[in-house]
Amino acid sequence: MRIRIADIKEDGLALDLVEGVANFPVLQELHAKGESVFTQPVSVQLRAVLVSGMVEVTGRVATRVEMACSRCLGPAEVMVDSPFELTYTRELPDVEDEGGEEGVEIAAEDMGLILFAGEEIDLRGVIQEQVILALPFHPLCDPNCRGLCIKCGADLNEKACQCGPQDYNIKFAALKNLKIDD
Ligand SMILES: [Zn+2]
Ligand SMILES: [Zn+2]
Repeated sequence: MRIRIADIKEDGLALDLVEGVANFPVLQELHAKGESVFTQPVSVQLRAVLVSGMVEVTGRVATRVEMACSRCLGPAEVMVDSPFELTYTRELPDVEDEGGEEGVEIAAEDMGLILFAGEEIDLRGVIQEQVILALPFHPLCDPNCRGLCIKCGADLNEKACQCGPQDYNIKFAALKNLKIDD
């Protein structure tokens, strides 16, 4: 998942890239643990342009992930499709090199810039980061998922359990008025 600087012409460069999750170490780890099972490769559509010596990259990253529903623990399909905007630069303009290499890297980050060297930009790290940021903390199999009964553990999407509404009402009396009935 790379951009060759020489390929960026005056009117920019458009790229369609697809790579399997195995090429992204952190995603691969989530996948192997079963926390986020990638059911599609990671695809990236981007456009790169040269702007006063810097490389501006805009695009979208998309993939499909199966996670556990945060209410019922059943499979929740998550579509990742998020835009990104990155600016790469070989060196920082008008910045004193005071903190050595590390200082320059921190300064670059503060300015929203990513440093690169050589003739290519490797996008793997930032693309991986974009995917992780796009994964929901509370995935849902369905926005209306009823979840599991807190008493007997029954999946309330499948059937009402025998625990009865009284248990439910005592514990959730305060929430009752918020419930949108069907
Ligand atoms: Zn659910
Ligand atoms: Zn129950």
